[in-house]
Amino acid sequence: MTIDWQIVRDDFPILKSKINGQALIYFDNAATTQKPKVVIQALQNYYEQANANVYRSVHTLSGEATKEYESAREKVRDFIHAESREEIIFTSGTTESINLIARMLSKKLEKNDEILLTYMEHHSNIVPWQMIAKETGAKIKYINLTEDGRIDLEDYQSKLSAHTKIISFTHISNVTGVNNPIKKMVEIAEKYGAYIMVDGAQATGHHVVDVKELAIDFYVFSGHKMFGPTGIGVLYGKKELLEGLEPAKFGGEMIELVEEQESTWAALPHKFEAGTPNIAGAVGLGVAIDYLNKIGLENIERYEQELMSYLIERLMTIEGLTIYGPENTEDRIGVVSFNLDSIHPHDLATGMDLDGIAIRAGHHCAQLLIRKMGVLATSRISLSFYNTKEEIDQAIASLNGVKEFFN
Ligand code: PMP
Repeated sequence: MTIDWQIVRDDFPILKSKINGQALIYFDNAATTQKPKVVIQALQNYYEQANANVYRSVHTLSGEATKEYESAREKVRDFIHAESREEIIFTSGTTESINLIARMLSKKLEKNDEILLTYMEHHSNIVPWQMIAKETGAKIKYINLTEDGRIDLEDYQSKLSAHTKIISFTHISNVTGVNNPIKKMVEIAEKYGAYIMVDGAQATGHHVVDVKELAIDFYVFSGHKMFGPTGIGVLYGKKELLEGLEPAKFGGEMIELVEEQESTWAALPHKFEAGTPNIAGAVGLGVAIDYLNKIGLENIERYEQELMSYLIERLMTIEGLTIYGPENTEDRIGVVSFNLDSIHPHDLATGMDLDGIAIRAGHHCAQLLIRKMGVLATSRISLSFYNTKEEIDQAIASLNGVKEFFN
């Protein structure tokens, strides 16, 4: 199927905005993606036509809200190829999902057990583990990276042992775009029987995800990074594992029976969804998934890779510009970090903003990685399928302008 990406752009009302008098060029997709009209409309429709609390009432509207909420769960299940809807827990986002998993797994940790992370993790895949390591006496170890920012598989292998209880790493780096070899990493770790969690925040919506094929225990992601609303996310966990874990949040609708001193838990997935969930957010995420499926993730991935290759090729024409991460574009997805001469990334991003171009500058919530890279900050362009080669050309012109200004 040939897609007219210019027509796809029309689905995103915000792309018609002007920033500082210039047409918006949105290159901060790793921070959050823009929303297509159908998602914006779905939120309004939900509140206008179906709003009620889920599960709690026998009235028709509550039934309608419950139906929409559960239909969104089914769409998520299908999207990541999970076996059953009981494995899909709605959360507020990647950060909450990881916090919940860390808290749930803390009960399985003993002193001197090890949690294996990598140096490329987002803070949300570091800090929750630090907290439970402190509580349990477990230790955190970090897998080294290669010169070009990939996971060093030899180092990974050497750090695995009978002490390894949890392995948690990102699918795609939000700084370098590195696409990690999940299947290989799962294979290498197999004999140790550790829990394996993958942070999919930068992958879903850009790359086909099949949790069954990857054979991981947990996969987490955020709706807002895949064209859905903010405040909704997903925790996928293998059913047999989730069944054996204690919930980490307690309250309404996650219980079966409440006695004076004790309670018992509802069945999956409800035992992990305490309180009123973000119903409209889940419905919006479901519509975002329908939208992505209509375009086709394979088409999206192919086009974004084409844009990525073009972006790198054009960036390399700028003298004094350093790109971080692998040279081979096959090993990265959607994200390019760079520095230009000694211009501070914040100055660079401000200069580009004056041209209407939104990029991110800073440590990207990945201080361990930035430190390993030997810099204080980088500028980052992150792509989506509504970006174009013309926008990349304009960004290159803007970068050349910024360079001239500071020289
Ligand atoms: N992990 C990665 C790799 C990310 O890029 C992000 C967001 N930048 C997160 C986790 C956290 O996502 P959220 O803020 O949506 O919880």
